[in-house]
Amino acid sequence: MSRQLATVTRIKRIEAIPGADVIAKAVMTTNSWQVVVKKSDLNEGELAVYFEVDSFIPRDNNGETDSRFEFLAKSSAKKMGEVDGYRLRSVKLRNTLSQGLLLPVSLFPEITDPKEGDDVTDILGILLYEPPLPPMQNSMPRTALRTFPRFIEKTDQIRVQSIKPEEWTELRTHHYEVTVKMDGSSGSFFYNKGEFGLCSRNCQLIDLSGTGIFGKICRWFYNLFNRHHKKTLGFNRSVYSDMAAKYDVEQKLRDYCVQQGRNLALQGEICGEGIQSNREKIPNREQQFFVFDVFDIDTQKYISGEERRSLAAQFDMLHVPVIAEDYCIDGNLAAEQIVPHLLEFADGPGLYNDCREGLVFKSLSDPNVHFKVISNKYLLKYGL
Ligand code: ATP
Ligand code: MN
Repeated sequence: MSRQLATVTRIKRIEAIPGADVIAKAVMTTNSWQVVVKKSDLNEGELAVYFEVDSFIPRDNNGETDSRFEFLAKSSAKKMGEVDGYRLRSVKLRNTLSQGLLLPVSLFPEITDPKEGDDVTDILGILLYEPPLPPMQNSMPRTALRTFPRFIEKTDQIRVQSIKPEEWTELRTHHYEVTVKMDGSSGSFFYNKGEFGLCSRNCQLIDLSGTGIFGKICRWFYNLFNRHHKKTLGFNRSVYSDMAAKYDVEQKLRDYCVQQGRNLALQGEICGEGIQSNREKIPNREQQFFVFDVFDIDTQKYISGEERRSLAAQFDMLHVPVIAEDYCIDGNLAAEQIVPHLLEFADGPGLYNDCREGLVFKSLSDPNVHFKVISNKYLLKYGL
């Protein structure tokens, strides 16, 4: 599932910014993002195209500079791989937060029958901006990669601003566990029917130093194709195997799963030295693993927050900081105030840093209901 970065939306309201004549704030019907626009560009009630933060807009269209986006060259020019383009970030204009880009739908004749809510990411050729991998992850090919195991669910969180406004009627009735969103790399450890495995966000990693048959075969091919590199490349280390060793995860997970007759995956965030510029400020150049989910492979469901927290404690492993075990959205808030209220809640200290990436909300009653609230202070502080 790829992220919906460009959407046809409708302008619900244009709000004045004190002291500004040319620019104003726009409120949209399909989401809760706040974006600053040129007043002359857009009118209330009209259809428009909204591009979310993290969009990467290629500069060229059919081999020529796309003039519709040229005004971004000064503020947002960026290269992704070999492609020139513009990266949309969170910025402040006239002291007002602006996230993403909103343009009149009339600029885009390639959208033939625009309707509110339409995903036009692919039609417009918009890509997700992904920063170059840090050196540590570039060296990952030391370990063989397999596709992510199908028996584990991946951990994606929708941004609170991207939730459709009408969905809040239901969402505001839930009770939530609220944890700190940590800014590192996602990792999973699983035990499944006798097999222990390590996974990055998107792949299973095969330890080439292992004695298993798969490791042996991989090592044989690896040696064959990398004969001349052999001295410089290690085989068996990655942040994932480091974390598995540091917390003795294999032993603990095996013992527990065998004893309980279960198959489980521990999912967590690896933070520290060399990962996301250590914005988590983990001390002593260390790396640490923080559990945020436990997936029950047999039932294909996440276990409850309560059970997860006690399992992490029992395994003597770290857990992402818990802000609330049972949080309710204030019933007195007007519908439009919910997202701003949650955004304010997201600003605050993390475990070691005084400004956290944000919060993750997980419904206590429905494991399918969860979303992330990224702190705008954090985005602005780090220019994200
Ligand atoms: P990126 O992929 O660029 O790092 P992201 O972290 O926001 O973006 P999402 O898939 O949108 O990615 O968010 C879910 C991810 O957030 C998880 O895969 C996990 O790595 C991370 N995460 C950090 N802290 C938590 C937490 N407390 N609960 C759940 N997920 C968390
Ligand atoms: Mn992340």
